[in-house]
Amino acid sequence: TAFSKLGLQDALAYAVQKMDYVEPTPIQAQAIPIVLKGGDVIGSAQTGTGKTAAFALPIIQRLSTHGRLRCLILEPTRELALQVEEAFHKFAKFTDLRVTIVYGGVGYGKQTSDLKRGMDILAATPGRLLDHLGQGNCSLEDVEILVLDEVDRMLDMGFLPDVRKIVQRCPKARQTLFFSATLPPELEQLAGWALHNPTKVEI
Ligand code: AMP
Repeated sequence: TAFSKLGLQDALAYAVQKMDYVEPTPIQAQAIPIVLKGGDVIGSAQTGTGKTAAFALPIIQRLSTHGRLRCLILEPTRELALQVEEAFHKFAKFTDLRVTIVYGGVGYGKQTSDLKRGMDILAATPGRLLDHLGQGNCSLEDVEILVLDEVDRMLDMGFLPDVRKIVQRCPKARQTLFFSATLPPELEQLAGWALHNPTKVEI
């Protein structure tokens, strides 16, 4: 399929075929080969462009199952975190990868037990993740891939200080993917600090 031609393995090409994806969207065609090679990406794409699959599919292919947290995705809102978690569940259906989610505004009990059970991929909002880290419920020491999604919205919501703290807790040797519809100077600066030789993907 057109997805296999981008370098995706059969199980993933099959998963997207089942979801009636026929052609990769422009951001998928550009980003998937770079992410598969381990490169950092700055993508200026909005929701609705197929951005989630552009990072989720190659990330799933790069992760082998461990049960230790190796991929962290930061989202500005609970709704976006839930959408990303759901997408990872669908795409990773044919793998053993475990996906978990934490967000604010709800109790800690279930999230804490989910985190302690272990996962490969975590979707999170920044404040609640910092709370869990402070309580020792999870650790970022094994993170290999960090996704900062909808960063302009995280800026608008005042989350940048939390995002910086979280980036600092991730290993320096990692792959970082950064998505934002706009790149004002604060975000150029954050990207310059958090990414390593990124490729810019614009649509
Ligand atoms: P996103 O921009 O990631 O929020 O995706 C927007 C919507 O487009 C979601 O419902 C996806 O399931 C769908 N989608 C993503 N990629 C494709 C594709 N290549 N073909 C058809 N639908 C897609």
